[in-house]
Parts: sequence; C-alpha cells; structure tokens
Amino acid sequence: MPRPPESCSSNLRLLVTFALGLAWAAGCNAQVPPADLVLFNARIYTVNPQQQWAEALAIRGEKIVAVGRTKEIDGYRGPATRIIDAHQHLVLPGFVDCHIHFMDGSLGLTQVDLNGAKTVVEIQKRVKEYAASHPKEPWITGMGWTYPTFGPGALPHKKFLDEVVPNRPVYLVAFDGHSSWANSKALAMAGITRATPDPANGRIVRDESGEATGALKESAGDLIAALMPKPTREERLAALRLGMHEANKYGLVRVHSAGGDFEYLDLFDELHRRGEQTLRFYIAYFLDPPQLTPDALQKIESARGTYRDDWISGGAVKTMLDGVIEAHTAAMLTPYSDDPSQIGELFWDPGKYKQAITELDHRGLQIFTHAIGDKAVRTALDAYEQAANANHTQDARPRIEHIETITSQDIPRFGKLGVIASFQPLHAYPDEDTLQIWARNAGPDRASRAWVWHSIEGTGGRLAFGSDWPVVTLNPWPGVQNALTRQTTEGDPPGGFVPNERVSLEDTIKAYTLGAAVAGRREKTEGSLEAGKLADLIVLSQDLFQIKPNQTGKEEVMLTIVGGKLVYESPKWVQASTGAP
Ligand SMILES: [Zn+2]
Repeated sequence: MPRPPESCSSNLRLLVTFALGLAWAAGCNAQVPPADLVLFNARIYTVNPQQQWAEALAIRGEKIVAVGRTKEIDGYRGPATRIIDAHQHLVLPGFVDCHIHFMDGSLGLTQVDLNGAKTVVEIQKRVKEYAASHPKEPWITGMGWTYPTFGPGALPHKKFLDEVVPNRPVYLVAFDGHSSWANSKALAMAGITRATPDPANGRIVRDESGEATGALKESAGDLIAALMPKPTREERLAALRLGMHEANKYGLVRVHSAGGDFEYLDLFDELHRRGEQTLRFYIAYFLDPPQLTPDALQKIESARGTYRDDWISGGAVKTMLDGVIEAHTAAMLTPYSDDPSQIGELFWDPGKYKQAITELDHRGLQIFTHAIGDKAVRTALDAYEQAANANHTQDARPRIEHIETITSQDIPRFGKLGVIASFQPLHAYPDEDTLQIWARNAGPDRASRAWVWHSIEGTGGRLAFGSDWPVVTLNPWPGVQNALTRQTTEGDPPGGFVPNERVSLEDTIKAYTLGAAVAGRREKTEGSLEAGKLADLIVLSQDLFQIKPNQTGKEEVMLTIVGGKLVYESPKWVQASTGAP
C-alpha cells in the first residue's frame, strides 16, 4: 500500500526534496507512485458515509487509489498522469441500471421507435417512414406503443397498420412488453385464424365474429415473434456496441440484465475479448415455469463458473410470478377494481416456485423475481423466507422486481428478510397510463400503496433502482426526477402521486450506486468513490444538489469513466476543454 501524501512528515518531505532534487519537487511522490489519472477541482459526492464529499481523486489502472482534497491528491501527479480539471462540476459514482433487457433494447435502437408516440396517426407516420427508409427489411418491427393511445380500455387494431404497410409483416410490441400488435400480413404468416387456440399464458384478442384483431396479449405474441428472422451475430454485436454507447452517454457503468441476454453471453464475452467492453454486465438466466429442470440448473451453474469477473458475471436467475396491472395479469389477493371477474393468476404453481427458490438459494445463486400484484409479492416473500429458513442462508439478497402494489403487512418484510426491493422509478411516472388505467384497475386502496419506495426504505429495506429498458428510456435521469417528485415534467398531479413515497436525493443516488452494488453483491468493489474500489464515475453538467428536483430529469453527463478509462465525453465537454467557440 502506498502511503497517502498527507501522512508524509514535513521532515521527510524536506529530506526527499534535498536528496532527489527538483525532479521530485512534489516531495511525497517518493512515497507514492504516480497515478494514471487525476481528477481535481471537482465537487465529488462519494456515497461513502465516512467521507461524503471530496475535491479530487486519483486512479491507477482500473482502480481508485485516493480520494480527498485537491492538495492531497496533487502528490499523485506524475509526468505521464492524465489530468482532468472538473471545473467544479458534480462527480458521482457511475450509475447502475438494476433491471434491464439489454439485447432487446440494443436491437430496438435499430427498429421503429414508438416511444412518445401518443396518437395512432403518429404511430402510422413512424411505421410508414421506417418502412420507406428500410425497403429491404423483410419485417417491420418496433416497440414502445402505450395503451391510452387507443382510448379507454381499447387495444390496437390491425387495420391501422394495414393502412400504412399492407405487403410486409409488421409486429410492434407495447412499451411494457406484455402485449403486441400485428398487421394482417403478420397474422396470416403465423397462420392465426378463428380456429387458432390461445396459447398458455397468452390471448389472441378477437372481435365479435371471432376474428383476430391484431392485438396479442402476453405469450400470444410469440406466435408471430417466432417467425421473424433472427438477427445475425454481426448485427447483434453491432447493436450491443450501440447499446453500450447509449448507456455510457447517460452515465451508466453497469447493468443487471433481467432476461433476454443469457443466451448471448458469448457475444458479450467477444466484445470483452476485443477490448470493446465499456459497460459491466451482470446477467441473469431466465427461468420459465413450470419448474426448475436439471438442464436449466446445468446452464446456470456453467455460466456462474465461466463468467465471474468485474466485467461479465453470471450466477443470477430471473423468473416471473405474474404479469402487469394494466392487462389484469398481475396476481392480486382480491379482484381487480374495474373488473371483479379478474384477479390475475400466478404464472407458477406456488409449490413448484418455492421448491425452485429453495434449490437456487441452497446453491448460493441470486434470485430476481418479477412480482407486481400484491399476491405475487407475498408469494415471493414467503418463498424467500422459507428458503432462508430451510438452507440457513444469510445475506443471500434475493430480489423482488417491480413491486407495484403491496399489502401494508408485507412492507416491513423486505427489511426483516433482507430482500432487495428493485424498483424502476419511471414505472411510477404519473401519466395517463398510470393515473387512468393503472389506478382504475388497482382501485384506490391498492393505489394508496403504489410503488412504496419510501415505506420499504423506512422499514429497513434496501432499494435498487433501474429502468427496465426498453420498456422505458435507458436514461436514468428522468427516473431520478420521478423518484424525487412523483410528478410529470409538467408538475402533475399537483401534490405528486402518492407523494409520501418520494425519496430524498441522497437516497435516490444511493439506489442507483451503492444500493445497486449491494443488490448485485458487489459493494466491496463498486458503488462508491473510495480508495480500492473500481474507478467507475461520472462528471455531470448540472449540480443535482443545487437545482430544483423537477429539473433533474434534464441532467446531462459530461464524462463517463469505467475501470479508469474515459468511455464517454459529451460534445459540450470536448468543446469547453478544447476552448473551441
Ligand atoms: Zn423487465
């Protein structure tokens, strides 16, 4: 361990200076090998409770070697040290996205983007333009349509797509990934007729005459998705590069993959071997019901054995207990408020689910369970409690993803059982979808416990934040804003949506950094800026501590450093630092 410069006595400094002359004028350099990178003149919020704020830090290789006052860090400057003047900008540990579908999102960057398209006309325009500019694409695919676009309770219809693209198949997935929308050509190619039965856990939506309307719920979309040509290896690699760049641009340094990436682990690995990886990946195996099979276990164990460094790691398992509230597929303890005939079914037989959880926990694998309805959340908590008791495991940190509603009695169980609450703050964004459809379906009582971030935290539970990209944007800053305000960018609803569940700025930052590291079992090496940890950090354009909460969504990242390497510089930063006009 090099001695930190502040521990040098002035006598020693004098001696060294005399003995070695001007070349060693910095004195303590005799004790401290120079750093590769020194960042100074910064407002560093470290997320380390022992030293919350600092002015400068030094990086050697992939790690931080010192954090402190600018004067203290000066001793780490050497002739080859790269020096970055942060000009008093705010510096934070790099952000982690704890729930992402990275390959889907990355491939989506090359498809029709329907995010923010609020009318059928706008969707038609985007689909038409994409089709025109991609004449050789055999399929038109895209993602991001929302339910309110089609009016209260209505779903999209194939005729809108037939009007703009009649000759090629079109397949568009809803923003939440739980419904899809096809044109007539795609339905015909899949052979979907009046006689086609609904698949397990899915529904082909039909009109009065029994004809498919083009709307497909849950697994029914797979009938069409299965026909689409698979992107080639090179196309996938190109998409991943694009995705990593987007992530770095928004200040992300690591993602926790919650499904869809496991089968491409070798592609992530290839990027790593080529020296192109700029984002760290924790990748979960996606476990489907009805049970945990020996084949699944073998794959999970083999990934854990093969991928286990700071860049790519396996050893996590994701499964889903239910669907979503908007589609009445989230499992509730009591019927839906708008339609008492529906309650939402668990995707797993509870006995089989508990058995699977106990086995995975016994092996020390980390479990992520998607649970949205209060019944699904309770089932997951029960299974985790039972597994910990049966296996005598400690600090296993099983996770529940989403937790959109919950009973009051289950809230303190997160803290008590050490279950990580993995939320995506933008899912609680109080737009039409949330306030009209979500709240109507859940009803006022359950809606009063919507996304209970603060209540879980207040009872000792640990929060981890993410996006669920491509369900919502990859950009974490609108998520930060919603965690702080629970209001739209226009300030609606006036007091905030269930405003007692807002989170402080410090706790929000923590949920994206140190909390995220805890949620990925990596807090010893990541999550805060302190000596010995990986040098993953960001320099921000606006100081979050000095701007209004409703401005935080517009935050821009100036620099992103991952493993000591500069992986993103904003055009603004480059311009400012080169002094160009
Ligand atoms: Zn997800």
